[in-house]
Amino acid sequence: MPNSKSVPRDWLMYSEKSNSVFCFCCKLFTCHSLENINTSRLITTGCSKWQNLSQTLHSHETSLAHLNNFKQWVHLERALKSKRTIDQQQEKLFELEKQHWRAILERFIEIIKYLCKQCLPLRGKSDQLFVRNNGHFLQLVQLLAKFDVTMSSHLQKTLQKKSVHYMSIDVQNELIALLAKKIKEKILLLIQKAKYFSIILDCTPDISNTEQMTIIIRFVSTDNQVQIQEHFLGFIDIKDSTGEGLTNYIIEKIKEFNLDISNLRGQGYDNGANMKGKNNGLQRHILKY
Ligand SMILES: [Zn+2]
Repeated sequence: MPNSKSVPRDWLMYSEKSNSVFCFCCKLFTCHSLENINTSRLITTGCSKWQNLSQTLHSHETSLAHLNNFKQWVHLERALKSKRTIDQQQEKLFELEKQHWRAILERFIEIIKYLCKQCLPLRGKSDQLFVRNNGHFLQLVQLLAKFDVTMSSHLQKTLQKKSVHYMSIDVQNELIALLAKKIKEKILLLIQKAKYFSIILDCTPDISNTEQMTIIIRFVSTDNQVQIQEHFLGFIDIKDSTGEGLTNYIIEKIKEFNLDISNLRGQGYDNGANMKGKNNGLQRHILKY
């Protein structure tokens, strides 16, 4: 400086890769009004003319465009430090919104988990809030709202705006399906860890007369303590109920579960000929695998 005070040029950057120097603030707040070619290099490709560097830097740092960019940089830095930028405020709103929906979903998932554990149906005759017979799910949501601020404000908003509320039948079903998927994955992991397993199958027609087979897998878990575990892993719709047909279904299912059929150590069936039949039963067929 003219008064012999030294002020570091913190806007000046050196790039090892291109062996040249750049102006940080002009690069950040693109400037188009630089007449001097040496000076504009500081923004574009970098300046590597070392002989006249001090002159170039001086003419750059005193140019109006650079001073404007420098001012903008200082303002931005201050705003970022005090978290006053538009982005920051927007981000804060997003974060609050995210926390709100996460809290709501956590409550819905807990309600569904509770109802499933108690083997209670979720839905009633109506899917409206605050009406009679609207089912256990909505009744529990209403109950929770009496004591919980998050849930009560969510219900108020839902009733006022009729906006997104995550309480519809579709969302309930989706949450149940996601929970079931997670539980099944965990059970299958336990079976894979235990290695050997048995299957217990039973066929019965449902209300629409579609033949369905239930699959239960039995194994010895050694996780914390040695114990026999039995888990229901789902229904299979049966179209071909011959011994061979049933065998194909079950082989397919075991593959889908990522289990190795050579580790199958036991089979349990009802007394149907297609299951236990000496010549053409599933029990006989499956032994071939
Ligand atoms: Zn500059």
